[in-house]
Amino acid sequence: MEVRVNDECSACGICEDICPEVFELGDEKAEVKMNPVPEEYHDQVREAAEECPSEAIEIEE
Ligand code: SF4
Repeated sequence: MEVRVNDECSACGICEDICPEVFELGDEKAEVKMNPVPEEYHDQVREAAEECPSEAIEIEE
């Protein structure tokens, strides 16, 4: 799984709350700390993408 955060991100921090191992809030948007994402975090990353209010998390399986 590869994941990226696009420019729609509003830096709300929800993704970091759900999966701090993969997402970290930067100055203007969330940053992805690891790509590819290890299998153990796939469910949390999918949940973060679903919960993201800006639909800014793009997943490539
Ligand atoms: S949940 Fe979405 S809008 Fe909020 S910080 Fe993460 S990527 Fe950005």
